[in-house]
Amino acid sequence: MLQRARPFRYMCRSDQAFVTLATNDNYAKGAMVLGKSLRNHKTSKKLAVLIGPHVSEPSRAVLQKLYDEVRLVDVLDSGDTAHLAMMKRPDLGVTFTKLYCWTLTHYSKCVFMDADTMVVTNIDELFDREELSAAPDPGWPDCFNSGVFVFQPSNETYNKLLQYCTEHGSFDGGDQGVLNGFFKDWATADIRKHLPFIYNMSSIAIYTYLPAFKQYGANAKVVHFLGKMKPWNYAYDPKQSTIKGGVQEGTTHPSYLLQWWSLYSSCVVPMLKEEYKDQPFNFFEPSCQEKEEEEVVQTTPQAQFSPPPLSSVERKQRWEQGQADYMGIDSFDNIEKKLAAFLK
Ligand code: UDP
Ligand code: MN
Repeated sequence: MLQRARPFRYMCRSDQAFVTLATNDNYAKGAMVLGKSLRNHKTSKKLAVLIGPHVSEPSRAVLQKLYDEVRLVDVLDSGDTAHLAMMKRPDLGVTFTKLYCWTLTHYSKCVFMDADTMVVTNIDELFDREELSAAPDPGWPDCFNSGVFVFQPSNETYNKLLQYCTEHGSFDGGDQGVLNGFFKDWATADIRKHLPFIYNMSSIAIYTYLPAFKQYGANAKVVHFLGKMKPWNYAYDPKQSTIKGGVQEGTTHPSYLLQWWSLYSSCVVPMLKEEYKDQPFNFFEPSCQEKEEEEVVQTTPQAQFSPPPLSSVERKQRWEQGQADYMGIDSFDNIEKKLAAFLK
């Protein structure tokens, strides 16, 4: 008897997977584009996404179609060591969720990719590398950037990571600080664990070293929309295939941003429409939730006079976008004081 042809994704069973994370609907959009880009470039690996409890039903349904595995992670609800760690370090919420990827022990090897990345070619060759392989961070090249890394799931490593996290925290407030602290010999121990920069290319590097981008940019394999302005924070005109209101200089390279949006509008929006059915939803504008948050900030009386203090993560992101507060907290005087304190 003739067997019905199985969809492509079920034919490529393997014990290796690309893994990403989305704790809300915005990052879920990123995960959808990432998943679609990996499928388009015919990965032979499995695709897994960790989601947080705030991801909506329609987003979950679309992720189910694009990923082989959609796993709900609620560290606060886990009742185990992760829960305890989280209680001690509530500031590291998303970080703990990201570390959870080490528990995916039904895979022998994985490549973690941030939800704000997109592949522009097949990158399955990354699975030839060992833990922990990653590309240098454009801001501090002796640290690796944790947007793309090769790792080996292991409950033992996971528990050690949690312990490290609770004891030492994160020097940058996020997962990158924790992982660089834990895998601290990355910079010097084994050059094979240094992924070429083309596996995690961020726009910041384009703007800071344009000649190198002109020379090597065409070889890019993974684009990373690192920083505060993510593709989904822009509005898109699908008829003209343009970004509405232009692109803020120094944040995202316009051609990659358009590539992201083109994939989103042609492949992801039809899937989302199917899930949202008749519910009104503007797929091409930043989500309402985000707009409401912005309005709250703008209408708070206090905010009109003195802006709310920025977290260290937000300040780092502004620095990375070239928006240092030279006259205020990032003034030369303050930097000098900080350096003096460190040197002492
Ligand atoms: N992330 C998430 N929800 C958040 C923040 C981050 O799911 O609210 C996940 C997501 O996979 C994201 C990754 O953590 O890509 C790292 O955060 P982000 O990409 O914003 O950091 P950046 O690369 O800009 O430093
Ligand atoms: Mn990122």
